[in-house]
Amino acid sequence: MGRLVAIVGRPNVGKSTLFNRLTQTRTAIVDDMAGTTRDRQYGKVDWIGKEFSIVDTGGWVVNSEDIFESEINKQVQLAIEEADVILFVVDAMNGVTDLDDHVAEILRRSKKPVILVANKVDSNDWIYNVPEFYKLGLGDPFTVSASNGSGTGDLLDEIVKDLPEDDGEEERLESIPKFAIVGRPNAGKSSIINAFIGEDRNIVTDIAGTTRDSIYTRYNKFGFDFYLVDTAGIRKKTKVNEDIEYYSVIRSIRSIEASDVCILMIDATRGIEAQDVNIFSLIQRNKKGLVVCVNKWDLVADKSNESIRHFEQTIRQRFAPFTDFPIIFGSALTKQRIFKVLETAVNVYHNRNRIIPTSQLNTYMQEVIGAYPPPANKGKYIKIKYVTMLKESIIPTFVFFCNLPQWVKEPYRRYLENKIREKWDFTGTPVNIFMREK
Ligand code: GDP
Ligand code: GDP
Repeated sequence: MGRLVAIVGRPNVGKSTLFNRLTQTRTAIVDDMAGTTRDRQYGKVDWIGKEFSIVDTGGWVVNSEDIFESEINKQVQLAIEEADVILFVVDAMNGVTDLDDHVAEILRRSKKPVILVANKVDSNDWIYNVPEFYKLGLGDPFTVSASNGSGTGDLLDEIVKDLPEDDGEEERLESIPKFAIVGRPNAGKSSIINAFIGEDRNIVTDIAGTTRDSIYTRYNKFGFDFYLVDTAGIRKKTKVNEDIEYYSVIRSIRSIEASDVCILMIDATRGIEAQDVNIFSLIQRNKKGLVVCVNKWDLVADKSNESIRHFEQTIRQRFAPFTDFPIIFGSALTKQRIFKVLETAVNVYHNRNRIIPTSQLNTYMQEVIGAYPPPANKGKYIKIKYVTMLKESIIPTFVFFCNLPQWVKEPYRRYLENKIREKWDFTGTPVNIFMREK
């Protein structure tokens, strides 16, 4: 299961600089997929073979010096609820402030591993301020400089030491789809889960033998067999922090990471807002399958085709450039089309695992490339020789072999991807397009 590290601290101590520093090495590799933008607040780190996600809890709020204590409380509380390890960043140039004291007190009461990070120790001049931080009662401060990188290697060592061991839960799961239901507060996540499960608790069974609360429940009825991710978390949802929308984004990280396909619930009466896009972006970053469910359709007066088309268009525009995903209009309350949502999620799962036989793939792609060859670059002709799909890949991955892979630019890769999507059903799943030299 995914492991999550959260960065907390008052404004201007260097949280986002540290976030960038810690994620820097990895993002270049991870973001090979076309069209993904780098998140300022969420990233993945691979340190000596140990992988974790990291989130800057301050990154979603407008940073201002006069941030309210109540706001900090909520941020810290959220980190305690969601993260495996918390990095508490303080400013060594500034020394301890009242707000630092306050945060330290909340963190001391939690049972989560906390690493105290004294930032801005750019040179030894500032090291003399560091002993002051012992009084926060959180052990030895790690001295780092987020801007020049010093100390961050030791910090990463400490983080991976504190991360919980993998309890092997994922290995014990059967190879059936894992679906996560995500969305903003009040979009209808709990309602749709209740609609699936109903009163019949026997449909879902918790996975036995796990050390932590399992986030998977198995659903096996009406011809469906899959795991729902994090239903327990949704059912006993803490109403704390519900007022703050961006927390729902952080809350969905684990479920998204642990799933194959995400069902993104959108409230038809509210339309697409920034947090929907943020959650979508997490799904994209993790290369998960996607089904959009426009919920509360029962409340929408105008259900004409026109209105549906307009809705669909708006959603696809906001989620561009990835637009090839299904959108289902339904209602968790009246149960209208909720099984269609499940059916569609199952289809997306199959699309995600689809392998096109090499000969078929080459016959079609030769036509496609012949009709519109890659544009020559500085007088050099690019020749794509053949294409194959990787068998052991998490998502459909096409490898094109050609003489000058580095000259094949983004628009052409998008052309190839679009042609592939026209011919075969890869709806709802991202695909990789790689160029290799041959
Ligand atoms: P956040 O509000 O906690 O996310 O803080 P930022 O990362 O935005 O940093 C606040 C300010 O501190 C910016 O001007 C950064 O350039 C600066 N800063 C961050 N890390 C360091 C550091 O290690 N050394 C120094 N000298 N400045 C830093
Ligand atoms: P969650 O926060 O995403 O889990 O959302 P809930 O499932 O708790 O739903 C929030 C509110 O919207 C509740 O009052 C639900 O009864 C209501 N609701 C959920 N789905 C529908 C729907 O399809 N139609 C209508 N009319 N109300 C709904």
